Amino acid sequence: MNLTEPQAGSDVGALTARAEPEGDGSYRIFGQKIYITWGEHPMAANIVHLVLARLPDAPPGSRGISLFLVPKFVPDAAGNPGARNDVTCIGLEHKMGIHASPTCTMAYGEGVHTGAGGGRPGAIGWMVGEPNKGLAAMFTMMNSARLNVGLQGVAVGDAAFQKAHDYAQERRQGRAEGWTEAGPSPIFHHADVRRMLMTMKAKVAAARTICHMTAVAADLARTATSAEARELARAREELLTPIAKGWSTDTGVEIASLGVQIHGGMGFVEDGGAAQFYRDARIAAIYEGTNGIQAIDLVSRKLPMEGGGPVRTLIGEMRETVAACATSRSEALKLIGGRLSAAVDVFEEAADWLIRAQSGNQKRDALAGATPFLKIAGDVTGGWTLAKGALLANDRLATPGADVAWLTARLSLAGFFAENVLSQVPGQLAGITAGADQLFEPDIEALAG
Ligand SMILES: Cc1cc2nc3c(=O)[nH]c(=O)nc-3n(C[C@H](O)[C@H](O)[C@H](O)COP(=O)(O)OP(=O)(O)OC[C@H]3O[C@@H](n4cnc5c(N)ncnc54)[C@H](O)[C@@H]3O)c2cc1C
Repeated sequence: MNLTEPQAGSDVGALTARAEPEGDGSYRIFGQKIYITWGEHPMAANIVHLVLARLPDAPPGSRGISLFLVPKFVPDAAGNPGARNDVTCIGLEHKMGIHASPTCTMAYGEGVHTGAGGGRPGAIGWMVGEPNKGLAAMFTMMNSARLNVGLQGVAVGDAAFQKAHDYAQERRQGRAEGWTEAGPSPIFHHADVRRMLMTMKAKVAAARTICHMTAVAADLARTATSAEARELARAREELLTPIAKGWSTDTGVEIASLGVQIHGGMGFVEDGGAAQFYRDARIAAIYEGTNGIQAIDLVSRKLPMEGGGPVRTLIGEMRETVAACATSRSEALKLIGGRLSAAVDVFEEAADWLIRAQSGNQKRDALAGATPFLKIAGDVTGGWTLAKGALLANDRLATPGADVAWLTARLSLAGFFAENVLSQVPGQLAGITAGADQLFEPDIEALAG
Protein backbone atom coordinates (compact mmCIF):
# COMPACT_ATOMS: atom_id res chain seq x y z
CA MET A 1 0.00 0.00 0.00
CA ASN A 2 1.54 3.29 -1.12
CA LEU A 3 -0.17 6.17 0.67
CA THR A 4 2.45 8.07 2.65
CA GLU A 5 4.49 10.97 1.23
CA PRO A 6 6.86 13.27 3.11
CA GLN A 7 4.15 15.96 3.57
CA ALA A 8 1.23 13.51 3.72
CA GLY A 9 1.23 11.10 6.67
CA SER A 10 -1.91 11.12 8.83
CA ASP A 11 -3.16 13.81 6.45
CA VAL A 12 -3.46 11.53 3.43
CA GLY A 13 -5.47 14.22 1.64
CA ALA A 14 -2.25 16.28 1.30
CA LEU A 15 -0.66 13.79 -1.10
CA THR A 16 0.65 15.11 -4.42
CA ALA A 17 1.63 12.01 -6.47
CA ARG A 18 -0.01 12.42 -9.86
CA ALA A 19 -1.44 10.12 -12.49
CA GLU A 20 -1.61 11.18 -16.13
CA PRO A 21 -4.01 9.30 -18.42
CA GLU A 22 -2.40 7.69 -21.46
CA GLY A 23 -5.68 7.47 -23.38
CA ASP A 24 -5.55 3.67 -23.66
CA GLY A 25 -6.92 2.93 -20.17
CA SER A 26 -3.50 3.09 -18.55
CA TYR A 27 -1.88 5.94 -16.58
CA ARG A 28 1.63 7.24 -15.95
CA ILE A 29 2.35 7.73 -12.24
CA PHE A 30 4.81 10.35 -10.92
CA GLY A 31 5.84 11.18 -7.34
CA GLN A 32 7.53 9.88 -4.23
CA LYS A 33 6.19 7.59 -1.49
CA ILE A 34 7.94 7.02 1.83
CA TYR A 35 7.89 4.28 4.49
CA ILE A 36 6.56 1.64 2.10
CA THR A 37 6.57 -1.79 3.74
CA TRP A 38 8.10 -4.41 1.45
CA GLY A 39 8.16 -1.77 -1.33
CA GLU A 40 11.14 -3.61 -2.83
CA HIS A 41 12.47 -7.14 -2.30
CA PRO A 42 13.69 -10.16 -4.27
CA MET A 43 11.26 -12.59 -2.62
CA ALA A 44 8.67 -12.76 -5.43
CA ALA A 45 8.66 -12.71 -9.22
CA ASN A 46 6.72 -9.44 -9.25
CA ILE A 47 5.53 -6.77 -6.83
CA VAL A 48 2.14 -5.12 -7.19
CA HIS A 49 1.97 -1.64 -5.69
CA LEU A 50 -1.37 -0.07 -4.88
CA VAL A 51 -0.68 3.63 -5.19
CA LEU A 52 -2.77 6.66 -4.27
CA ALA A 53 -2.35 9.54 -6.74
CA ARG A 54 -4.26 12.48 -8.21
CA LEU A 55 -5.71 12.84 -11.69
CA PRO A 56 -4.92 16.13 -13.47
CA ASP A 57 -8.41 17.60 -12.84
CA ALA A 58 -8.87 16.14 -9.34
CA PRO A 59 -10.49 18.27 -6.61
CA PRO A 60 -8.16 19.12 -3.69
CA GLY A 61 -7.94 17.08 -0.48
CA SER A 62 -9.12 13.53 0.10
CA ARG A 63 -12.00 13.88 -2.40
CA GLY A 64 -9.48 14.02 -5.25
CA ILE A 65 -7.52 10.83 -4.68
CA SER A 66 -7.61 7.80 -7.00
CA LEU A 67 -6.14 4.32 -6.57
CA PHE A 68 -3.78 2.74 -9.11
CA LEU A 69 -2.30 -0.69 -9.51
CA VAL A 70 1.37 -0.38 -10.50
CA PRO A 71 3.41 -3.57 -11.03
CA LYS A 72 7.19 -3.63 -10.71
CA PHE A 73 7.28 -5.59 -13.99
CA VAL A 74 4.49 -4.86 -16.46
CA PRO A 75 3.07 -8.25 -17.50
CA ASP A 76 3.78 -9.42 -21.05
CA ALA A 77 1.16 -10.80 -23.45
CA ALA A 78 1.30 -14.18 -21.70
CA GLY A 79 0.76 -12.58 -18.27
CA ASN A 80 4.32 -13.17 -17.10
CA PRO A 81 6.47 -10.42 -15.54
CA GLY A 82 7.67 -8.38 -18.53
CA ALA A 83 9.41 -5.00 -18.93
CA ARG A 84 10.70 -3.24 -15.80
CA ASN A 85 8.35 -0.44 -14.79
CA ASP A 86 9.52 3.06 -13.82
CA VAL A 87 9.21 2.53 -10.06
CA THR A 88 12.42 2.38 -8.00
CA CYS A 89 13.37 1.94 -4.39
CA ILE A 90 15.70 4.87 -3.69
CA GLY A 91 16.29 4.28 0.01
CA LEU A 92 15.72 2.06 3.04
CA GLU A 93 14.72 3.35 6.48
CA HIS A 94 16.86 2.40 9.48
CA LYS A 95 14.37 1.57 12.20
CA MET A 96 14.21 0.88 15.94
CA GLY A 97 12.50 -2.47 15.31
CA ILE A 98 10.94 -4.88 12.78
CA HIS A 99 14.30 -5.25 11.10
CA ALA A 100 13.12 -8.17 8.96
CA SER A 101 10.61 -5.90 7.23
CA PRO A 102 12.15 -3.58 4.62
CA THR A 103 10.69 -0.04 4.75
CA CYS A 104 11.32 1.70 1.45
CA THR A 105 11.29 5.11 -0.18
CA MET A 106 9.76 4.62 -3.63
CA ALA A 107 10.24 6.93 -6.59
CA TYR A 108 7.68 6.83 -9.41
CA GLY A 109 8.30 8.18 -12.89
CA GLU A 110 11.89 9.35 -12.55
CA GLY A 111 12.85 7.85 -15.90
CA VAL A 112 15.12 5.19 -14.36
CA HIS A 113 13.38 2.32 -16.19
CA THR A 114 11.62 3.49 -19.33
CA GLY A 115 11.34 0.12 -21.11
CA ALA A 116 7.72 -0.49 -20.12
CA GLY A 117 6.73 3.09 -20.99
CA GLY A 118 8.02 3.17 -24.58
CA GLY A 119 11.17 5.11 -23.68
CA ARG A 120 9.33 7.85 -21.77
CA PRO A 121 9.34 8.35 -17.95
CA GLY A 122 6.28 7.47 -15.85
CA ALA A 123 5.35 4.28 -14.01
CA ILE A 124 2.62 2.48 -15.93
CA GLY A 125 -0.48 1.78 -13.84
CA TRP A 126 -4.19 1.04 -14.03
CA MET A 127 -6.98 2.58 -12.01
CA VAL A 128 -8.72 0.46 -9.37
CA GLY A 129 -12.34 1.49 -8.84
CA GLU A 130 -13.62 4.92 -9.80
CA PRO A 131 -11.85 8.24 -10.30
CA ASN A 132 -11.49 10.26 -7.05
CA LYS A 133 -12.82 7.34 -4.97
CA GLY A 134 -9.39 5.90 -4.24
CA LEU A 135 -9.35 6.51 -0.52
CA ALA A 136 -12.59 4.55 -0.05
CA ALA A 137 -11.15 1.73 -2.21
CA MET A 138 -7.93 1.73 -0.16
CA PHE A 139 -9.97 1.51 3.06
CA THR A 140 -11.07 -1.98 2.02
CA MET A 141 -7.50 -3.02 2.67
CA MET A 142 -6.81 -0.56 5.46
CA ASN A 143 -9.65 -1.81 7.63
CA SER A 144 -8.44 -5.38 7.45
CA ALA A 145 -4.85 -4.16 7.87
CA ARG A 146 -5.90 -2.29 11.04
CA LEU A 147 -7.24 -5.51 12.51
CA ASN A 148 -4.08 -7.36 11.45
CA VAL A 149 -1.93 -4.70 13.11
CA GLY A 150 -4.04 -5.08 16.26
CA LEU A 151 -3.15 -8.77 16.12
CA GLN A 152 0.52 -7.81 15.86
CA GLY A 153 0.09 -6.21 19.29
CA VAL A 154 -1.38 -9.49 20.55
CA ALA A 155 1.30 -11.64 18.90
CA VAL A 156 4.29 -9.63 20.11
CA GLY A 157 2.69 -9.30 23.56
CA ASP A 158 2.14 -13.04 23.81
CA ALA A 159 5.69 -13.81 22.66
CA ALA A 160 6.99 -11.35 25.29
CA PHE A 161 4.85 -13.04 27.92
CA GLN A 162 6.07 -16.54 27.04
CA LYS A 163 9.69 -15.43 27.20
CA ALA A 164 9.18 -13.67 30.53
CA HIS A 165 7.27 -16.67 31.92
CA ASP A 166 10.22 -18.96 31.10
CA TYR A 167 12.84 -16.54 32.40
CA ALA A 168 11.00 -16.02 35.68
CA GLN A 169 11.31 -19.72 36.39
CA GLU A 170 15.03 -19.90 35.55
CA ARG A 171 16.28 -16.74 37.25
CA ARG A 172 16.82 -17.06 41.00
CA GLN A 173 17.08 -14.01 43.22
CA GLY A 174 16.35 -13.52 46.92
CA ARG A 175 13.96 -15.63 48.90
CA ALA A 176 10.30 -15.08 48.12
CA GLU A 177 7.83 -14.82 51.01
CA GLY A 178 6.76 -18.37 51.81
CA TRP A 179 9.74 -19.97 49.95
CA THR A 180 10.79 -22.97 52.03
CA GLU A 181 13.43 -24.66 49.85
CA ALA A 182 17.16 -24.10 50.21
CA GLY A 183 18.80 -21.19 48.40
CA PRO A 184 17.24 -18.37 46.44
CA SER A 185 13.81 -18.75 44.89
CA PRO A 186 13.01 -18.37 41.19
CA ILE A 187 11.75 -14.79 40.72
CA PHE A 188 8.44 -16.36 39.58
CA HIS A 189 7.60 -16.72 43.29
CA HIS A 190 7.91 -13.01 44.14
CA ALA A 191 4.49 -11.37 44.34
CA ASP A 192 5.61 -8.37 42.30
CA VAL A 193 6.93 -10.55 39.46
CA ARG A 194 3.75 -12.61 39.57
CA ARG A 195 1.75 -9.36 39.33
CA MET A 196 3.64 -8.41 36.17
CA LEU A 197 3.11 -11.85 34.64
CA MET A 198 -0.62 -11.82 35.44
CA THR A 199 -0.93 -8.33 33.94
CA MET A 200 0.77 -9.53 30.77
CA LYS A 201 -1.32 -12.69 30.50
CA ALA A 202 -4.66 -11.03 31.27
CA LYS A 203 -4.06 -8.15 28.86
CA VAL A 204 -2.91 -10.45 26.05
CA ALA A 205 -6.08 -12.50 26.56
CA ALA A 206 -8.26 -9.37 26.54
CA ALA A 207 -6.62 -7.96 23.40
CA ARG A 208 -6.90 -11.31 21.65
CA THR A 209 -10.63 -11.60 22.34
CA ILE A 210 -11.23 -8.01 21.16
CA CYS A 211 -9.42 -8.73 17.88
CA HIS A 212 -11.16 -12.06 17.38
CA MET A 213 -14.54 -10.51 18.13
CA THR A 214 -13.81 -7.86 15.49
CA ALA A 215 -12.82 -10.57 13.00
CA VAL A 216 -16.05 -12.49 13.67
CA ALA A 217 -18.05 -9.29 13.10
CA ALA A 218 -16.15 -8.67 9.84
CA ASP A 219 -16.95 -12.20 8.64
CA LEU A 220 -20.61 -11.97 9.64
CA ALA A 221 -20.92 -8.58 7.94
CA ARG A 222 -20.35 -10.50 4.69
CA THR A 223 -21.76 -13.95 5.37
CA ALA A 224 -24.68 -13.68 7.83
CA THR A 225 -27.83 -15.07 6.28
CA SER A 226 -30.14 -12.07 6.85
CA ALA A 227 -29.57 -8.49 5.71
CA GLU A 228 -30.39 -7.29 9.24
CA ALA A 229 -27.73 -9.53 10.80
CA ARG A 230 -25.18 -8.41 8.19
CA GLU A 231 -25.95 -4.78 8.99
CA LEU A 232 -25.61 -5.31 12.75
CA ALA A 233 -22.29 -7.09 12.22
CA ARG A 234 -21.00 -4.34 9.93
CA ALA A 235 -21.77 -1.72 12.57
CA ARG A 236 -20.06 -3.86 15.24
CA GLU A 237 -16.99 -4.31 12.99
CA GLU A 238 -16.78 -0.55 12.36
CA LEU A 239 -17.14 0.27 16.06
CA LEU A 240 -14.58 -2.28 17.21
CA THR A 241 -11.90 -1.79 14.53
CA PRO A 242 -10.25 1.32 16.09
CA ILE A 243 -10.40 -0.35 19.52
CA ALA A 244 -8.87 -3.58 18.17
CA LYS A 245 -6.09 -1.60 16.48
CA GLY A 246 -5.49 1.09 19.08
CA TRP A 247 -5.96 -0.72 22.38
CA SER A 248 -4.30 -3.98 21.34
CA THR A 249 -1.18 -2.23 20.06
CA ASP A 250 -0.85 0.13 23.05
CA THR A 251 -1.31 -2.95 25.21
CA GLY A 252 1.32 -4.84 23.18
CA VAL A 253 3.84 -2.10 23.97
CA GLU A 254 2.92 -2.15 27.67
CA ILE A 255 3.20 -5.94 27.82
CA ALA A 256 6.55 -5.97 26.00
CA SER A 257 7.79 -3.30 28.43
CA LEU A 258 6.77 -5.50 31.38
CA GLY A 259 8.63 -8.36 29.68
CA VAL A 260 11.80 -6.23 29.71
CA GLN A 261 11.19 -5.40 33.38
CA ILE A 262 10.84 -9.05 34.38
CA HIS A 263 14.23 -9.73 32.78
CA GLY A 264 15.88 -6.98 34.87
CA GLY A 265 19.21 -5.89 33.34
CA MET A 266 19.01 -8.86 30.97
CA GLY A 267 15.92 -7.17 29.53
CA PHE A 268 17.86 -4.07 28.55
CA VAL A 269 20.81 -5.83 26.94
CA GLU A 270 20.19 -7.38 23.55
CA ASP A 271 21.48 -10.86 24.48
CA GLY A 272 18.33 -11.45 26.56
CA GLY A 273 15.95 -11.19 23.59
CA ALA A 274 13.23 -9.33 25.52
CA ALA A 275 14.29 -5.94 24.12
CA GLN A 276 13.46 -7.01 20.58
CA PHE A 277 9.80 -7.53 21.44
CA TYR A 278 9.66 -4.02 22.92
CA ARG A 279 11.28 -2.49 19.80
CA ASP A 280 9.10 -4.54 17.44
CA ALA A 281 5.87 -3.75 19.32
CA ARG A 282 6.38 0.02 19.10
CA ILE A 283 5.59 0.45 15.39
CA ALA A 284 2.14 -1.10 15.65
CA ALA A 285 0.86 1.95 17.57
CA ILE A 286 2.08 4.19 14.72
CA TYR A 287 1.39 2.64 11.33
CA GLU A 288 -2.00 1.93 9.72
CA GLY A 289 -3.17 5.22 11.26
CA THR A 290 -1.54 6.27 14.53
CA ASN A 291 -3.44 5.36 17.68
CA GLY A 292 -4.31 9.03 18.05
CA ILE A 293 -6.04 8.83 14.67
CA GLN A 294 -7.79 5.58 15.74
CA ALA A 295 -9.12 7.37 18.85
CA ILE A 296 -10.40 10.26 16.74
CA ASP A 297 -12.06 7.77 14.35
CA LEU A 298 -13.72 6.03 17.32
CA VAL A 299 -14.99 9.23 18.89
CA SER A 300 -15.89 11.36 15.90
CA ARG A 301 -17.13 8.72 13.42
CA LYS A 302 -17.94 5.47 15.18
CA LEU A 303 -19.63 6.67 18.38
CA PRO A 304 -22.12 9.02 16.70
CA MET A 305 -22.93 6.66 13.80
CA GLU A 306 -26.62 5.75 13.60
CA GLY A 307 -27.37 8.09 16.50
CA GLY A 308 -25.14 6.07 18.85
CA GLY A 309 -27.08 2.83 18.17
CA PRO A 310 -24.08 0.46 17.72
CA VAL A 311 -22.35 1.55 20.95
CA ARG A 312 -25.63 1.27 22.86
CA THR A 313 -26.16 -2.27 21.50
CA LEU A 314 -22.67 -3.18 22.70
CA ILE A 315 -23.32 -1.68 26.13
CA GLY A 316 -26.60 -3.63 26.32
CA GLU A 317 -24.72 -6.90 25.75
CA MET A 318 -22.19 -5.94 28.41
CA ARG A 319 -25.03 -5.42 30.89
CA GLU A 320 -26.38 -8.91 30.10
CA THR A 321 -22.99 -10.28 31.21
CA VAL A 322 -23.11 -8.10 34.35
CA ALA A 323 -26.54 -9.60 35.15
CA ALA A 324 -25.32 -13.16 34.55
CA CYS A 325 -22.36 -12.60 36.89
CA ALA A 326 -24.61 -11.01 39.55
CA THR A 327 -26.96 -14.01 39.61
CA SER A 328 -24.14 -16.57 39.62
CA ARG A 329 -23.50 -18.60 42.75
CA SER A 330 -19.77 -18.00 42.35
CA GLU A 331 -18.39 -15.28 44.61
CA ALA A 332 -15.57 -14.68 42.12
CA LEU A 333 -18.08 -14.01 39.32
CA LYS A 334 -20.14 -11.70 41.52
CA LEU A 335 -17.03 -9.66 42.18
CA ILE A 336 -16.14 -9.54 38.47
CA GLY A 337 -19.72 -8.51 37.65
CA GLY A 338 -19.60 -5.68 40.20
CA ARG A 339 -16.40 -4.22 38.77
CA LEU A 340 -17.69 -4.65 35.22
CA SER A 341 -20.97 -2.96 36.08
CA ALA A 342 -19.24 0.16 37.46
CA ALA A 343 -16.90 0.29 34.45
CA VAL A 344 -19.76 -0.07 31.94
CA ASP A 345 -21.64 2.77 33.65
CA VAL A 346 -18.62 5.02 33.16
CA PHE A 347 -18.12 3.84 29.57
CA GLU A 348 -21.72 4.76 28.81
CA GLU A 349 -21.48 8.12 30.56
CA ALA A 350 -18.29 8.97 28.68
CA ALA A 351 -19.77 7.88 25.33
CA ASP A 352 -22.89 9.98 25.93
CA TRP A 353 -20.79 12.99 26.90
CA LEU A 354 -18.63 12.67 23.78
CA ILE A 355 -21.64 12.32 21.47
CA ARG A 356 -23.31 15.35 23.10
CA ALA A 357 -20.13 17.43 22.99
CA GLN A 358 -19.79 16.87 19.25
CA SER A 359 -23.38 17.66 18.47
CA GLY A 360 -22.95 20.89 20.47
CA ASN A 361 -20.13 23.36 20.14
CA GLN A 362 -17.45 21.30 21.88
CA LYS A 363 -15.73 19.40 19.09
CA ARG A 364 -12.24 20.23 20.39
CA ASP A 365 -13.24 19.12 23.90
CA ALA A 366 -14.36 15.78 22.50
CA LEU A 367 -11.11 15.38 20.52
CA ALA A 368 -9.15 16.08 23.71
CA GLY A 369 -10.91 13.12 25.36
CA ALA A 370 -10.50 10.73 22.42
CA THR A 371 -7.36 8.83 23.47
CA PRO A 372 -8.40 8.32 27.12
CA PHE A 373 -11.80 7.20 25.82
CA LEU A 374 -10.23 4.64 23.50
CA LYS A 375 -8.30 3.35 26.51
CA ILE A 376 -11.40 2.75 28.62
CA ALA A 377 -13.25 1.39 25.58
CA GLY A 378 -10.56 -1.32 25.36
CA ASP A 379 -10.40 -1.83 29.12
CA VAL A 380 -14.16 -2.32 29.38
CA THR A 381 -14.52 -4.41 26.22
CA GLY A 382 -11.56 -6.57 27.25
CA GLY A 383 -12.91 -6.96 30.80
CA TRP A 384 -16.32 -7.88 29.39
CA THR A 385 -14.96 -10.60 27.11
CA LEU A 386 -12.87 -12.04 29.95
CA ALA A 387 -15.99 -12.01 32.16
CA LYS A 388 -17.91 -13.91 29.47
CA GLY A 389 -15.05 -16.42 29.34
CA ALA A 390 -15.11 -16.73 33.12
CA LEU A 391 -18.86 -17.44 33.09
CA LEU A 392 -18.34 -20.22 30.55
CA ALA A 393 -15.34 -21.58 32.44
CA ASN A 394 -17.36 -21.64 35.65
CA ASP A 395 -20.15 -23.64 33.97
CA ARG A 396 -17.68 -26.11 32.51
CA LEU A 397 -15.95 -26.71 35.82
CA ALA A 398 -18.86 -29.00 36.71
CA THR A 399 -18.42 -31.09 33.53
CA PRO A 400 -16.88 -34.57 34.10
CA GLY A 401 -13.25 -34.63 32.94
CA ALA A 402 -13.01 -30.83 32.88
CA ASP A 403 -9.52 -29.31 32.80
CA VAL A 404 -9.97 -27.74 36.23
CA ALA A 405 -6.59 -25.97 36.36
CA TRP A 406 -7.10 -24.29 32.97
CA LEU A 407 -10.71 -23.32 33.65
CA THR A 408 -9.87 -21.96 37.11
CA ALA A 409 -7.11 -19.88 35.54
CA ARG A 410 -9.76 -18.23 33.29
CA LEU A 411 -11.63 -17.15 36.41
CA SER A 412 -8.39 -15.92 38.00
CA LEU A 413 -7.42 -13.89 34.93
CA ALA A 414 -10.87 -12.30 34.63
CA GLY A 415 -10.85 -11.57 38.38
CA PHE A 416 -7.37 -10.07 38.22
CA PHE A 417 -8.34 -7.91 35.22
CA ALA A 418 -11.50 -6.76 37.01
CA GLU A 419 -9.61 -5.79 40.18
CA ASN A 420 -6.62 -4.18 38.48
CA VAL A 421 -7.94 -2.72 35.21
CA LEU A 422 -11.73 -2.37 35.39
CA SER A 423 -11.42 -0.90 38.89
CA GLN A 424 -9.44 2.01 37.40
CA VAL A 425 -12.00 2.90 34.73
CA PRO A 426 -14.19 5.16 36.90
CA GLY A 427 -11.14 7.28 37.75
CA GLN A 428 -10.61 8.04 34.06
CA LEU A 429 -13.96 9.71 33.43
CA ALA A 430 -12.68 13.10 34.60
CA GLY A 431 -9.84 13.03 32.07
CA ILE A 432 -12.18 12.16 29.22
CA THR A 433 -14.70 14.90 29.99
CA ALA A 434 -12.24 17.59 31.17
CA GLY A 435 -12.32 19.32 27.79
CA ALA A 436 -9.45 20.99 25.96
CA ASP A 437 -9.02 24.26 27.89
CA GLN A 438 -6.21 23.03 30.14
CA LEU A 439 -4.36 21.61 27.13
CA PHE A 440 -4.29 24.98 25.42
CA GLU A 441 -3.89 27.23 28.48
CA PRO A 442 -0.07 27.38 28.64
CA ASP A 443 1.48 29.21 25.68
CA ILE A 444 4.36 27.62 23.78
CA GLU A 445 7.15 29.27 25.84
CA ALA A 446 5.45 28.51 29.15
CA LEU A 447 5.14 24.85 28.16
CA ALA A 448 8.84 24.71 27.31
CA GLY A 449 9.95 26.42 30.53
C1 LIG B 1 7.93 0.98 9.65
C2 LIG B 1 6.88 1.73 8.91
C3 LIG B 1 6.16 1.11 7.89
C4 LIG B 1 5.18 1.80 7.19
N1 LIG B 1 4.53 1.21 6.14
C5 LIG B 1 3.75 1.96 5.33
C6 LIG B 1 3.24 1.42 4.09
O1 LIG B 1 3.46 0.26 3.74
N2 LIG B 1 2.50 2.24 3.29
C7 LIG B 1 2.23 3.54 3.63
O2 LIG B 1 1.56 4.22 2.86
N3 LIG B 1 2.68 4.07 4.80
C8 LIG B 1 3.45 3.32 5.65
N4 LIG B 1 3.94 3.85 6.81
C9 LIG B 1 3.58 5.21 7.18
C10 LIG B 1 2.67 5.28 8.40
O3 LIG B 1 1.39 4.82 8.09
C11 LIG B 1 2.73 6.72 8.91
O4 LIG B 1 4.01 6.90 9.50
C12 LIG B 1 1.63 7.04 9.89
O5 LIG B 1 0.36 7.02 9.26
C13 LIG B 1 1.84 8.40 10.55
O6 LIG B 1 2.14 9.41 9.63
P1 LIG B 1 3.41 10.34 9.90
O7 LIG B 1 4.59 9.45 10.13
O8 LIG B 1 3.51 11.34 8.81
O9 LIG B 1 3.08 11.05 11.27
P2 LIG B 1 2.26 12.43 11.40
O10 LIG B 1 1.02 12.37 10.59
O11 LIG B 1 3.20 13.57 11.18
O12 LIG B 1 1.85 12.37 12.95
C14 LIG B 1 2.71 12.83 14.01
C15 LIG B 1 1.87 12.88 15.29
O13 LIG B 1 0.80 13.82 15.13
C16 LIG B 1 -0.45 13.20 15.36
N5 LIG B 1 -1.44 13.75 14.44
C17 LIG B 1 -1.32 13.92 13.09
N6 LIG B 1 -2.45 14.40 12.58
C18 LIG B 1 -3.33 14.55 13.60
C19 LIG B 1 -4.68 14.96 13.71
N7 LIG B 1 -5.39 15.33 12.64
N8 LIG B 1 -5.25 14.95 14.94
C20 LIG B 1 -4.56 14.56 16.02
N9 LIG B 1 -3.30 14.13 15.98
C21 LIG B 1 -2.69 14.11 14.79
C22 LIG B 1 -0.22 11.71 15.13
O14 LIG B 1 -1.16 10.90 15.84
C23 LIG B 1 1.21 11.54 15.64
O15 LIG B 1 1.21 11.35 17.03
C24 LIG B 1 4.90 3.15 7.55
C25 LIG B 1 5.60 3.77 8.59
C26 LIG B 1 6.59 3.09 9.25
C27 LIG B 1 7.37 3.82 10.31
